[in-house]
Amino acid sequence: MKQMLKSFLVAIIIFIMIAYSNISWAETLNDLKDERSDVSEQIQDTKNDLEDIDTEKSETLEQVENLIGEISKYQNEIDDLQGKLDSLKSDISELEVKIKADETEYNKENKALDKRLVAMYKTGETSYLDFLLSSTSLMDFISSYYLISQVVDYDEKMLVRLDEHKQKIEKEKESLEASKKEVETTQITLTAKQNALQVSKKEKEKYVDQLSEQEKEKEKKLQELQDTNDELDKKIKAKQAEIAAAKARAAQNQNHSSGGASGSRSASASTTTSSYGLIWPTLTRYSVTTGWYYSTGKLHGASDISGAGIYGAPIFAAADGYVVTSTAKVNSAGQYISYGNYVFIAHYNGLYTLYGHMSQRVAREGQEVKQGQIIGYVGSTGNSTGPHLHFEVRTGSGSYSERVNPLNGYLPTK
Ligand SMILES: [Zn+2]
Repeated sequence: MKQMLKSFLVAIIIFIMIAYSNISWAETLNDLKDERSDVSEQIQDTKNDLEDIDTEKSETLEQVENLIGEISKYQNEIDDLQGKLDSLKSDISELEVKIKADETEYNKENKALDKRLVAMYKTGETSYLDFLLSSTSLMDFISSYYLISQVVDYDEKMLVRLDEHKQKIEKEKESLEASKKEVETTQITLTAKQNALQVSKKEKEKYVDQLSEQEKEKEKKLQELQDTNDELDKKIKAKQAEIAAAKARAAQNQNHSSGGASGSRSASASTTTSSYGLIWPTLTRYSVTTGWYYSTGKLHGASDISGAGIYGAPIFAAADGYVVTSTAKVNSAGQYISYGNYVFIAHYNGLYTLYGHMSQRVAREGQEVKQGQIIGYVGSTGNSTGPHLHFEVRTGSGSYSERVNPLNGYLPTK
């Protein structure tokens, strides 16, 4: 009687301890999961912000592109006008040379005429008689006089012609000057417009720089959040393994009375275990069609088990454990990707196993499974080219980087 009471009390104390520790673990796990969903939300928000910034940046860059196009159009027009201005200036210079030549000619002719007029005046006024007398004859005198007046008359006409010619060229020059002024005004207007566009372009470029700066900050934040998320993932996995191990201990204690984990071992599963305690996860061995590496040399990190008639064949838990994950990897369109339907189990011996591309999942998250228990059926969901079981073994925290080759003694050899 005393012995029975003692056993009963010990049982109660153990029960309370397990119950209490389970609650506290669950609380810690839930806290971690809450924290992770907060971080996930922040990651989504930051991604949305980044998308907004990216859209804004693309739009602004497009505006900058358009401005560059307009500025270059203006530049072409300004260059055209410059060409016109240069040719007008050279025409004007040519006219100026002509005008100068006319002036020189006019002055020369004018001087010559003056001399002749003086000569005539002298002849006419003071030396008329001398001239007359010096003439060998009257006819000689008359012809001399006539000759001089003819020359003067010719010179006067020539001067008038030169003057007219000069005036005509000056008019031409004035008209060219007016055109030049007009082109210059247009060019100034276009340059002003172009400058305004340059200012606008500079402002937009500054805005793009600001957006890039914001983008960098958000990306940095996103990276930090993702790091935090990864850290939480690790903690959650570790906590889950801790819980699984504790449950295993509890199950061992209970096994004497109630039988422990739900579900039963399938009669068809092999009982041959490897030195790590794992059984072959399918009914027959089939064959490993892709091993540790793909034929391309890229790391595969798993064993692909396949063979005739494997589709729909049962998949067995390789050892006793706790189902950490049982889910379908799908994209936003609801299509299977990656592992497709998969189950991830934390085993009480510290190993983890993953079963991918299932047609159907049987094991549920948080469920305990016995070695040889059916956890799903072979399929070809996700990144798979045909029906097969993608089987992974992981060590330690169970993370992706801690995969080991299942054929390195983790799976039984027969
Ligand atoms: Zn595979």
